[in-house]
Amino acid sequence: MVAEHINGSERAGKAQLLDGALVANEIKQQVQRDIEQLVLEHDVRPGLAAIRVGDDPASAVYVRNKIRASEEVGIRSELHALPESTTTVELLDLIGSLNSRGDVDGILVQLPLPSEIDEAGIVEAVDPSKDVDGFHPVNVGYLGLGRPVLVPCTPAGIIELFAYYRIELRGANACVVGRSQIVGRPMAQLLLQRDATVTICHSRTRDLQAVTSEADILIVAIGRAGLIGRDHIKPGAIVVDVGMNKITDPAEVRALFGGDAEKRLEIVAKRGYTLVGDVNPVAADEKAGKRTPVPGGVGLLTVAMLMKNTVKAARLRRGI
Ligand code: NAP
Repeated sequence: MVAEHINGSERAGKAQLLDGALVANEIKQQVQRDIEQLVLEHDVRPGLAAIRVGDDPASAVYVRNKIRASEEVGIRSELHALPESTTTVELLDLIGSLNSRGDVDGILVQLPLPSEIDEAGIVEAVDPSKDVDGFHPVNVGYLGLGRPVLVPCTPAGIIELFAYYRIELRGANACVVGRSQIVGRPMAQLLLQRDATVTICHSRTRDLQAVTSEADILIVAIGRAGLIGRDHIKPGAIVVDVGMNKITDPAEVRALFGGDAEKRLEIVAKRGYTLVGDVNPVAADEKAGKRTPVPGGVGLLTVAMLMKNTVKAARLRRGI
């Protein structure tokens, strides 16, 4: 567990920002120290193999960031960048060979895969002990049993954020909006395991704001720019925004960022878009007690937790 954060970024009249970048750095530094110890005491350097199929630019950026983070902390990494035309059988062959290699501790298949590939079959082909994304049914099952082994990186990172800021989960009303396999469901399991009272919302929830506005802790992972507004947030709540949405329309930028819009409009002019979460940041600033920013919140934690999972897998596989 990382150390307590003492100098929280207090902003007059606004929600305190939970600094994902800071916590991610703490986690990576700890991982680096763990790796130095593994090398020194056991002559083991953890290895991560990343697989990317096709030319999706977002996937390329995500994988590049993961490889770069591996290098920073001392994980040996290799990238298997395969063409769009790769078949399920070819991918299964590669995963089979990575499963059998002693120097590969973690296998990461960047999703989504091209539609012709059997994604579920690929996820299930990864050796569960090397499944550093925590997506294999065996690891999903362990998590459901309350015996987590390798846990999906985004929700695991959010738990680290809560620990860092000493946010009490026991007995809290926690609401998770979104029920994906990679964020919403595992998030709910981790909160439940920490004795929160958990509600999961989704696109069929009848009165979303009636549910979310009761939550002491609100975690949103839906992929809808700024959908969560003032009326969704309980005064003083802790709001974690997992969403990452690109917006390009200056009117939308102004509506979502209020007084900070000028800065964001400059980014749009330079890059063509800016990133916004699923929570309206102006509304969250007014109503929430603490909130994560986008960017600079959850995204960096995800990569840091992948590093942590790789070291964990290396230890578990060797019993050290
Ligand atoms: P996903 O698989 O697309 O699932 C979206 C979930 O949101 C679904 O459960 C859906 O409900 C629910 N939903 C959609 N519209 C809704 C609405 N209007 N009201 C209530 N619920 C609604 O999502 P995901 O993969 O978890 O990703 C969610 C967001 O997080 C995306 O913006 C993604 O880019 C981001 N993300 C960020 C990170 C990170 O590291 N920062 C990691 C992963 C994802 P149904 O189940 O009923 O369809």
